[in-house]
Amino acid sequence: MICARRVFRCFKCMERFADKLTGAAGPYFMGLAVILLSTGTFSFFCVIQPSLSIPIVTTPVCLLIALNLLTHYYYVCTVPPGFIDESPRTPGMGFLWAKKRNIQNRKPLTGVQWSDESALWMTKASTTKCKKCNKARPERAHHCRVCNQCILKYDHHCPVSTLNGINQCVGLYNERHFVMFMAYLVTATFCFCVLGYSQVFQALGVSYDHVWPYLVPEVIFILIYVLCIVLCLAVTIMLTWHLWGVMKGETSVEGQDHDIYRNVAKQRGDTFENSYDLGKWKNLQLFFNVGPTGYPLYTFIIPLRMNPYTDGRAWARREGYDSHRGLRKGEELTDEEAEEPES
Ligand SMILES: [Zn+2]
Ligand SMILES: [Zn+2]
Repeated sequence: MICARRVFRCFKCMERFADKLTGAAGPYFMGLAVILLSTGTFSFFCVIQPSLSIPIVTTPVCLLIALNLLTHYYYVCTVPPGFIDESPRTPGMGFLWAKKRNIQNRKPLTGVQWSDESALWMTKASTTKCKKCNKARPERAHHCRVCNQCILKYDHHCPVSTLNGINQCVGLYNERHFVMFMAYLVTATFCFCVLGYSQVFQALGVSYDHVWPYLVPEVIFILIYVLCIVLCLAVTIMLTWHLWGVMKGETSVEGQDHDIYRNVAKQRGDTFENSYDLGKWKNLQLFFNVGPTGYPLYTFIIPLRMNPYTDGRAWARREGYDSHRGLRKGEELTDEEAEEPES
């Protein structure tokens, strides 16, 4: 046991060091991401885009993809994820904000309700006390060790979305932008790979056409092309995994916790049921906040700001559920439990 404890402590030390490193390296990651995104976009419009046929159609489509890619990245970095002590945010009035289809500027859903208007079973979130910030936090909020704050609907800490040295988590208010950014990154890198292969041969000097009349140096173009292949594959896996979680009504943290709950329930012949899971389609609608109670579908192609369906103090659940089923009192995992092993 003593040995296990020592190994655990050593592991925790390494983890804290990695957190510190992530925090310190954040601005560099961010700088690198901005340089790569802008170089990639410039290379595309300088080398590939002029060779595309039907420019009247392809040019606006390419511009729209680039606009979504860069804007959603900007939002992931600049929209705070949502902190437990901030008051619920109301949607802005400016042109950068999407307008709701039915009732304009309706407040986010909160409290217990089951009405035709929302057609959602909303229940107030239960609260627990965070031992690190000493504050009451609603369910689905978790403490981020890098930011040292509790984040509403905490998903993960993202070192690539750091601005001015301020670390940024992905949580309630920016998770939609994060997923949209990944989706547009996959689209953009895929287009780059499919449409730019002949220019790569040209840059490598293996085609008949040896001239390279573009502003972007050959070597930069080849490096960006290789990076696009790698990113396209890697981000497709990340995006699929993330969307799969969304369809199950789980964040990244909850995905891990729920697997444990399922096993615990199974051992005693019970079944764990995630009360946030309203079915794949409804889960997606709520996550992207579109559909009858949310925003119009054009928000998928025009990168506008919008708030989530809830303020993080109440959650839509399966009808009649107040909490998860198949989970007994005291079995819930807390952030603090990961700190010390059971002796
Ligand atoms: Zn906390
Ligand atoms: Zn964080």
